[in-house]
Amino acid sequence: MNTHMPSALRRAACVFLAALLCLSFMAPTVAEAAVTQADIDALKKEASSLSSKKSELKNQLSALSEDKDEAMKKKDLLDEQCAVIQEEIDNVNAQISQYETLIAQTEQQISETEEKEQAQYELFCRRVRAMEENGTVSYWEVIFKATSFADLLSRIDFINEIMDYDERVIQDLKDLQAQLAEEKSALEESKAAQEEAKQELSSRKAELQAQLDEAIALMKKIQSQSDVYQDTLDALAQEEDEIQAQIVKKSQELAAQQAAGNNTSGGNASTGVVTSWMGSGGYMWPEKASKKINSPFGSRSSPGGIGSTNHKGVDIGGVGYTTQVLASKAGTVIVSQRSRSYGEYVVVSHGSGNTTLYAHMSKRLVSAGQKVQQGQVLGITGSTGNSTGPHLHFEITEGGIRVDPLQYLTGYVKNW
Ligand SMILES: [Zn+2]
Repeated sequence: MNTHMPSALRRAACVFLAALLCLSFMAPTVAEAAVTQADIDALKKEASSLSSKKSELKNQLSALSEDKDEAMKKKDLLDEQCAVIQEEIDNVNAQISQYETLIAQTEQQISETEEKEQAQYELFCRRVRAMEENGTVSYWEVIFKATSFADLLSRIDFINEIMDYDERVIQDLKDLQAQLAEEKSALEESKAAQEEAKQELSSRKAELQAQLDEAIALMKKIQSQSDVYQDTLDALAQEEDEIQAQIVKKSQELAAQQAAGNNTSGGNASTGVVTSWMGSGGYMWPEKASKKINSPFGSRSSPGGIGSTNHKGVDIGGVGYTTQVLASKAGTVIVSQRSRSYGEYVVVSHGSGNTTLYAHMSKRLVSAGQKVQQGQVLGITGSTGNSTGPHLHFEITEGGIRVDPLQYLTGYVKNW
């Protein structure tokens, strides 16, 4: 049989084999994965801790009676629940986006595998054509009519008079094709798993959103029951006044202390405030998510008995439960605590009698005595205290008197 195979063909086949091996040992062209399962696992761990925090809150909620006195406490717990659910939603969003990256990476690998297979086939065809031109092969013609790589391999099976070293070439082709097919099917499988995980996360997200809406609705319901709230309204207003008196006193004390110690009130260094969030009078917006003002400074009606009737600051809406609250001016934190009216709130002193106040946060991230720069993060927005939904209540006091922050918050959008 060796006589059928002239040395030219033999050489061609060898070149072909060499090229083939060369291709099959090519390093994978897909760059090191930008996202790995480990990234997602870390997020999942975080999600499970949020989930247990949430069920703890749920237990506390169900332990409360329908008692009036506990209405406020119930609202606080619901508030906390909202913040946790929002964190969960953020976590799920992060997982979804990582899965999307993973899927894109996998798709890229699949298409590269397909290209590799196509390249092998084309190379094979070119080699065979070269052999044919040499007028040496007849049986190649049969297999050359193959419509695809797979078809070609099956046609080859019907040819009996393949010589030893041809068989070696063919075997390598077969092995490579099997390897590529396996690679591709593994990738397809993992892509399907990723798609499924993404799908699950999407429905989890919808579920969480429903929980969030439910909690906010319940919160509003509790607060709209004026008989429950009317009792506390006066107390809350009084508490706010007491707080204000303390704030002025504290800021004066601090200024006196700093004068004695030859200390400045934290300087006016700014942490790279973007001009568009800079207001006038040296104040910047106390967050960078929204310029919507839900409620202005001054008198207002109190729908359903919610909130103070003489509004001492402005309510910035569109901030949700995860927006960073920023120091409007550099200064020193003089209050960082929780009250029934303001919820989690922070006050920053900017010199004697000059302060800014940030209320209803879900989280405080500074403590009293701490110096802050303009734009430094003080906490995270929320709806704690006397509040019906996430917003930032912001007050400016100058010379011991509360002034309208809107004169400084340039570009605000009226939403009341
Ligand atoms: Zn307010």
